[in-house]
Amino acid sequence: MKEIKEKADVCVIGSGAGGAVCAKELQEAHLSVVIMEKGGDFSRLEPGEDLFKGSIRVLAKTRALQGNVGIGNPMIPVAYGSCVGGSTALNAGTSWRVPQKVLRTWRDGLGLEVFTDDYVSGLSERVERFIDIGTVSDDIMGMSGKLMRKGVDALGWSGGPVKRNASGCKGCGACVVGCPYDAKKAMHLSYVPRAIELGARLHKKTRAERILTRHQRVAGVEGIRTDEDGRRWKVTVKSPVVVVAGGAVSSALLLLRNGIANSSGQVGRNLRVHPGVVVGAIFDEDVECWKGVPQSYYCDEFLEEGIIILVGALPPPIGALIIPDTGAVHKGFMARYRGFTDAGALISDTSSGRVRAVGHNALITYSLTDADVQRLKKGFGALIKIYFAAGAKSVFPLMQRGIALGTIKQGEEFIEGHVSRSSLITGSVHPMGTARMGRDRTSSVVDMFLESHDVKGLFVCDASVFPTSIAVNPQESIMTLAMHASEHIVAHMPDYS
Ligand SMILES: Cc1cc2nc3c(=O)[nH]c(=O)nc-3n(C[C@H](O)[C@H](O)[C@H](O)COP(=O)(O)OP(=O)(O)OC[C@H]3O[C@@H](n4cnc5c(N)ncnc54)[C@H](O)[C@@H]3O)c2cc1C
Ligand code: SF4
Repeated sequence: MKEIKEKADVCVIGSGAGGAVCAKELQEAHLSVVIMEKGGDFSRLEPGEDLFKGSIRVLAKTRALQGNVGIGNPMIPVAYGSCVGGSTALNAGTSWRVPQKVLRTWRDGLGLEVFTDDYVSGLSERVERFIDIGTVSDDIMGMSGKLMRKGVDALGWSGGPVKRNASGCKGCGACVVGCPYDAKKAMHLSYVPRAIELGARLHKKTRAERILTRHQRVAGVEGIRTDEDGRRWKVTVKSPVVVVAGGAVSSALLLLRNGIANSSGQVGRNLRVHPGVVVGAIFDEDVECWKGVPQSYYCDEFLEEGIIILVGALPPPIGALIIPDTGAVHKGFMARYRGFTDAGALISDTSSGRVRAVGHNALITYSLTDADVQRLKKGFGALIKIYFAAGAKSVFPLMQRGIALGTIKQGEEFIEGHVSRSSLITGSVHPMGTARMGRDRTSSVVDMFLESHDVKGLFVCDASVFPTSIAVNPQESIMTLAMHASEHIVAHMPDYS
């Protein structure tokens, strides 16, 4: 196998929310950066391309959407991106700052005093400027968002249009298979190209395999690059700083496979996933949920209890799974699909799972606690109320054996009588927590500057480091923490080299 040899100040593993931000910030501060990304370029939908056929084309061609099924009760699919830009290439663009309540817990409960509200909001502002975060306007919101607003307003609850990193959005509905207009400023269209423009070197299709160390200091990374024609190259980067940013599942896998940074035994543990439940609804009017920004409106009435509600607007092939029954009944509902929409309730989980390394693969185990099952039930109840308050004719909680509800009362009886842990269908696109930060080296993997307690110069800058569930969609929080760690690396670079 031929070898490519590189020298850099910093090798960044992964080009998603955490890695891309670090690469740009570090290169901008005149450090030399090499990025290793195991995925290839993301190929987006073309303007005007059929959403369904285009989705299959994009996902089959790029293999950018990957995942594992978490083994537990209930089983829970966990999905994430693998391409330049990581999961951000495939995400809905919804952006939140780290909630103040979460920061308070980190400071007061866990002693991570560096995360003051002012410091974190200063970092968030810089992220928001760079990826142009703004609020969804009415002209691109689509009926799905407007109906949720109608229901939330009728109940007198709190909610609003979502903030996103998609200025110039045309509301075509394709976000999760790649924006045809490059309006969504995912990492492959923002931080990664800027890092490269500034001089960073990107090795695509290059999987980091070995983290090199010397006397408890990191020394570089060895990876394997696989070209389109199947040719393989060994890529060796010698660097006194390594940033692991492969996402919460893959970073844990990499650290475990290397047997590194794990004197606490915590690598792979404390997995949180923001499990969610989904409810569909059919209205008399045409909703055409595939039109408009897919995730356009939120309800945060229950955020203090760890529940966030967001419009989903699934395309027909997936939405059909929510519509219950078979044969003529199912067909009857499907005939009214123009009036269909859906939304989800995500919970800030206290359940805790684990990522283990089994050869080259990650094995995830995760089961819901009773408290989280109760919270998901509450999420179901809230969604059912919102849709009936908005005028829905039938409402469908997504369950093992789904049902069509005609009234709120039926909904309440259904939740009490039929919803149990094993009947839930839930999923996750927000894995986090598998290399958590903390002050105590016996119970955490990295310190509050995201540096390994064990290996000098080894940082983890991705969703793995959250010490608690983050309560809201996490991309902006990850970017903010990546800025925080980058500043620390720049300030302390003389100690590493
Ligand atoms: C379908 C979907 C919708 C979502 N919607 C939203 C949303 O609207 N708002 C929001 O805030 N969040 C959303 N998320 C979640 C959000 O995108 C992720 O939480 C975030 O991108 C995670 O950042 P990260 O840096 O931890 O990992 P990622 O962004 O996943 O990046 C990790 C990268 O590392 C690479 N990698 C992994 N292992 C290796 C290795 N060994 N060598 C080299 N490279 C490696 C991967 O290929 C990947 O590209 C969504 C996620 C998905 C999948
Ligand atoms: S809805 Fe907006 S951000 Fe999403 S794919 Fe369409 S134009 Fe891009």
